[in-house]
Amino acid sequence: ASKADGRSKLRVFEPAMLHARQLRNQLVGELRQAIAGSQLVLFYQPVIELATGRIEGVEALVRWQHPTRGLIMPDEFIPVAEETGLISALGNWVLNAAVEQLRRWRTAPETSRHDFSMRINISAADLQRLEFIEDVRDALTASELDPALLVLELTEGAIIQGNELDRYTLASLRKLGVGLEIDDFGTGYSSISYLRRLPVDRVKVDRTLLSALGSDPAQPALIAAILQLIRACGLEAVWEGVENAEQAEHLRSTGCISGQGYYFSRPLPEAEFTKRLAQHDVWPA
Ligand code: C2E
Ligand code: MG
Ligand code: MG
Ligand code: MG
Repeated sequence: ASKADGRSKLRVFEPAMLHARQLRNQLVGELRQAIAGSQLVLFYQPVIELATGRIEGVEALVRWQHPTRGLIMPDEFIPVAEETGLISALGNWVLNAAVEQLRRWRTAPETSRHDFSMRINISAADLQRLEFIEDVRDALTASELDPALLVLELTEGAIIQGNELDRYTLASLRKLGVGLEIDDFGTGYSSISYLRRLPVDRVKVDRTLLSALGSDPAQPALIAAILQLIRACGLEAVWEGVENAEQAEHLRSTGCISGQGYYFSRPLPEAEFTKRLAQHDVWPA
């Protein structure tokens, strides 16, 4: 290849790179505005006690209501927020909005008969900030909620780095009385020793461990083994990605306490979720 070839490749490459960088800068600027303004919204998905249909938890899932591009899903902007440090402001917004929503549901006459916890998703970056502990304490104080009603979901990826600061933060959150749950279990390293070591009470098993096993003759045995492993570690299992009645029934009969997924409900906007809470005692109604 000649030098000229190399240069021509570069000329093609550079404007594309520049364009990508401009797009990204624009996205970062818009995301900053979205957090400061009121373009973030929470959707809510119930966590169901399989034996009774009782709503035992609600997971808050963030979306970005973009003024021109519509509803943007978290997978498209959470990574950007994490890389640019905007995640702490975003996470703090989610924390306060979720806790405030739970307070409203627990005090409004038409929804107060329900008794469930609020689950929010935490980033690895949050565990690396000492102020995060203060943020959680402040949000709980402002809402006057029992700390046990707030459950923080942490992915294996977020904690496996397991450094001193992580451990200190987790222990401090534990002291505050909030619940801790491992999210997406089975997609990361899934080390048994760290299941034993971490101060968590629950494990949410990743949905791919349900769908990928769908046609595998070993599926029932594997599900039973995963549930047994979790129980042997003294933890409670929640299975995510429950999409049909057979899965829900199979999990229930295998001893799984709770499930979450489209079979019960998709994540819903606040107004719709509130309406369902007001109308129904158990789920699915
Ligand atoms: P996650 O915490 O594992 O949340 C579960 C995801 O699976 C959600 O996607 C939910 O809509 C989807 N899901 C629920 N049931 C089913 C089902 O039956 N089948 C299938 N195929 N999918 C189901 P979503 O809302 O797009 O969120 C994606 C991820 O973004 C979350 O995964 C979480 O890691 C992250 N995320 C969402 N909200 C926040 C937030 O407020 N802060 C942070 N740091 N991360 C968030
Ligand atoms: Mg989650
Ligand atoms: Mg998950
Ligand atoms: Mg996930």
